[in-house]
Amino acid sequence: MDLGQTATILHKPDVVPAMEAIRIASYHRRDFDLAVVRTHPCDHDQIRSALLPPRHATTSTLGRLDILPTELVHGICLRLDIRSLFRFRQVNRRGQQIVRATRLYQAVIDHALEALCVILRTNTASWFTLSDLFEVLCTKECQFCGAFGGFLFLPSFARCCFTCIREDNLPGVLPLSILKHRIKPRSGRRPGSIPTVRTLPGIYAMDETPRKRRIAVVLRDAVNPLGLSDHCDNPRVQRSTSTTLLPYMVTTALPYFDRGSGAVQRGVSCSGCQIALEKALDASRVGSAACAWRDKVYSHDGFRDHFRDCQEARRLWELSGQGLSIVNVSEFVRRGGYFKKRDVVMSFNGR
Ligand SMILES: [Zn+2]
Ligand SMILES: [Zn+2]
Repeated sequence: MDLGQTATILHKPDVVPAMEAIRIASYHRRDFDLAVVRTHPCDHDQIRSALLPPRHATTSTLGRLDILPTELVHGICLRLDIRSLFRFRQVNRRGQQIVRATRLYQAVIDHALEALCVILRTNTASWFTLSDLFEVLCTKECQFCGAFGGFLFLPSFARCCFTCIREDNLPGVLPLSILKHRIKPRSGRRPGSIPTVRTLPGIYAMDETPRKRRIAVVLRDAVNPLGLSDHCDNPRVQRSTSTTLLPYMVTTALPYFDRGSGAVQRGVSCSGCQIALEKALDASRVGSAACAWRDKVYSHDGFRDHFRDCQEARRLWELSGQGLSIVNVSEFVRRGGYFKKRDVVMSFNGR
């Protein structure tokens, strides 16, 4: 095959290498990641090195646990909730070694460190295990709509997408304070017996609403057995401002880890669809459909399919000389979306 034939084949959109199309015509919506719970990025390196200390020989022991085969101790570690697992590793250096050698631990630290920090700080760690976190890390699709899901819904450890967060398609959640003193005495359960997320101070949602106070949040379905359903259906509760922000305050960004290939995906959006939206705005004929296309987030496979049908994305590919040069893209694409206050340095004390 001569060079001319090669150029002709690459010209066809369906044979553009998928990763090349992603490199030239897609970007990650960072503003979506900044709309939900997060921790300070400056802390991550320090936390990573604390969780993965150098492997030194140690004389410390696990006491009576040392009579068990190491594989059995690793199995116990996987069945411990994350909070207890981290307490166990704090016992001594031998505990750290055991936890570090536990299957899944390294992958979680490598690919879900931000989510892990959020889980620990929101007190969600007492309700779920390392295996639970690894399972959801390896799940690609949103559990509620089937689209690519780049987020974790903390109250039930479910994979979700930003559209479901923004459009309130997630299972209902309520501030625990609303429920206090309203539990039927004969229900036999207490609020402490259901998964509770302690929210973090931060700037939430796309309109950048600050929330400084921490509150405890529970899953509506989890409290119904406590005999609170009548109160939960109260329209005043459903309309309260705080409940509209809650989906953002109980979700965090979580990449997808492909355990087969070892690849990690955070989700990509189409630069061509942003161009199409800007052209429609210039022509004063923008509709909600153009915004919806611009806000779609794809897996790598999903973007390859979209690229075939997206005229503006293919135009970007042509303008780049079939991937040989960088194309000028809009400010929106360069920044990864729209945000004013929610930049890397967070302006609240909670960090
Ligand atoms: Zn969804
Ligand atoms: Zn597109």
